[in-house]
Amino acid sequence: MKESTSTFRYKLKIALTVFLPLAFIMNSVLWMFYYQESTTKYNSIETHAVNTINMQSLKIGSNFKLIASDLIFFSSYNQLMDMLDDSEVHKSRLTKDLALFSRGSKIYDQIRILDVAGMEIVRINYSGDLPVVTPENQLQFKGGRYYFRDTIPLAKGEIFLSPFDLNIEHGKVEQPLKPMIRFGTPIFDRKGDKRGIAIFNYLGANLIQDIKGVVSNLIGFSMLLNSSGYWIIGRDATDEWGFMYDDKKDRTMRNVYPDAWKKISASDTGQFYTAKGLFTFITVYPSLENRKSSAGSGKAFATNAKKDNARGYYWKIVSLIPEDYFSEEIYRILRKYLYLSAMLIALLGFGSWFWASVKSKQNTARYELAELTDRLRKSNIKLKELDRLKSMFVASMSHELRTPLNSIIGFTGVILQGMSGDLNERQKDQLGRVNGASHHLLDLINDVIDISKIEAERTDVFPVDLVMDEVIEEAIGAVQIQLEAKGLDLTVDVPKGLNLMTDRKRLLQCILNLLSNAVKYTDEGEIRITARSIGSEVEVAVTDSGIGIPEPALEKLFQPFERLQSHVSVKAGGTGLGLYLTKKIATELLGGGVAVESQVEEGSTFRLKVAKTLPGNSR
Ligand code: ADP
Repeated sequence: MKESTSTFRYKLKIALTVFLPLAFIMNSVLWMFYYQESTTKYNSIETHAVNTINMQSLKIGSNFKLIASDLIFFSSYNQLMDMLDDSEVHKSRLTKDLALFSRGSKIYDQIRILDVAGMEIVRINYSGDLPVVTPENQLQFKGGRYYFRDTIPLAKGEIFLSPFDLNIEHGKVEQPLKPMIRFGTPIFDRKGDKRGIAIFNYLGANLIQDIKGVVSNLIGFSMLLNSSGYWIIGRDATDEWGFMYDDKKDRTMRNVYPDAWKKISASDTGQFYTAKGLFTFITVYPSLENRKSSAGSGKAFATNAKKDNARGYYWKIVSLIPEDYFSEEIYRILRKYLYLSAMLIALLGFGSWFWASVKSKQNTARYELAELTDRLRKSNIKLKELDRLKSMFVASMSHELRTPLNSIIGFTGVILQGMSGDLNERQKDQLGRVNGASHHLLDLINDVIDISKIEAERTDVFPVDLVMDEVIEEAIGAVQIQLEAKGLDLTVDVPKGLNLMTDRKRLLQCILNLLSNAVKYTDEGEIRITARSIGSEVEVAVTDSGIGIPEPALEKLFQPFERLQSHVSVKAGGTGLGLYLTKKIATELLGGGVAVESQVEEGSTFRLKVAKTLPGNSR
């Protein structure tokens, strides 16, 4: 259980190191996209608003152009001139023409001609899609009205423009509301005398319809305001035409949107955000628009004399896109990206967890391998230690055996020499066997002690300067008796002054072993000892012409207690440890080795190699 929690922790750590940076980067990118998209959204809404108000402004312009051209055309209409010359004959014709015109154009509530005093001469009302000619006896005197007084002083071709307001009948606002703009121009007869004015009452509903029509797919609200800040088109119908009613005089944009109005009234055009939303506005100067668009004449559409400054007559088109709309759009985009982000995070989460699992498995495998290796290493050390202890035990046990064995050998030797009295032949023979076996046992024990000491790593080497031929001479001396007894020839080929720095006792032990083996396993012929220097080593080769060793036995020759059965049966003596010990000494103590070549019945060559120089106490 503990194991699995730590694995879980590990996995979590790996997963997080992958997940966190990736999630951070990916989400930053997503956030950038979100930012980009929402900015684009804002921009497109802003552009849309600007386009809308521009279109609306153009609509107003084109409407005014049309009305102005109607009026100017009419002011010099031939039928009108004829009537001014001789009213009795031509008046009825003109009236008919005007009735036709009224029905055709559909945009004029009233078309009137007033004389210079302000008395109506002709009046066509447009009601219920039909032109109605007002009977003579119902014509009224309008000399006191502002539109008459403002128009009559104008020069030829100049146009009076009334405020955009609601028609009033009998002192009350006409219901249903009838938005109205009066266009007036003075009339001159053929002689050039001013004879009165023409007044066209334009049905403002057409203009309002046109303006509203631009924004059929409206996002937000379109408003049209006059220069005092009253709504002609409002967000709400109840806001509209405030200046026409005594109880609505405070329904101005200044009061309802004070901050926005401050900006809107301060400049001709602009766009800004308030807490209410996006405001986009443009100022329309209808009289200026018309003057500009009138053909040729620079002052075709001047306003009335009092408001000579054309800039004083203007409207404001304002578009308001409420904050809600933006937040909804932005929220929609945000939702999309949040959804994407959630998917991404989930995906990344799965991905990194998967990755972490793979890593964790790899890691566990590595960990287990490391643990196994460590266990092996430890048990190896333990085994070595056990082996060393075993060797030490054997060495000390063997040492303990040597003492009693030496007294057996010593005392049997003394008895055999007859020092304790005479022995008969049988006793001599039996005691001789005891003595011989004891010698053999001592040899064995000595070898075992040597081997054990080396294995227990308790053998020290004592390098000294020596000359090879002296050591070989000493070895030969040791086997001299056996050599002579067997009548073997001995050839020695050792260069003089072959110096070494090695352990003399161990070197001698090795050479002696090989030499005594050669003597032991050779019945006739010769034994050859050669020595030579090879690089940093010296090789001593002992060659005999003895019984040789069969091929399969060669590789097992250097193992402990390995004695060739054929040889044992023939020859006496030997422990089976000699070559094993020699090899151990040569490789482990003297920095060299032993090798053998042999032919059965022809002889063997044993080559001992030792380092020329042995470093101090190597153990
Ligand atoms: P041993 O004490 O029996 O001589 P060694 O370890 O010295 O033990 O030798 C192992 C065996 O190798 C010997 O029993 C013998 O059979 C064989 N041997 C060693 N030296 C020679 C040699 N020069 N010629 C033939 N056989 C040899």
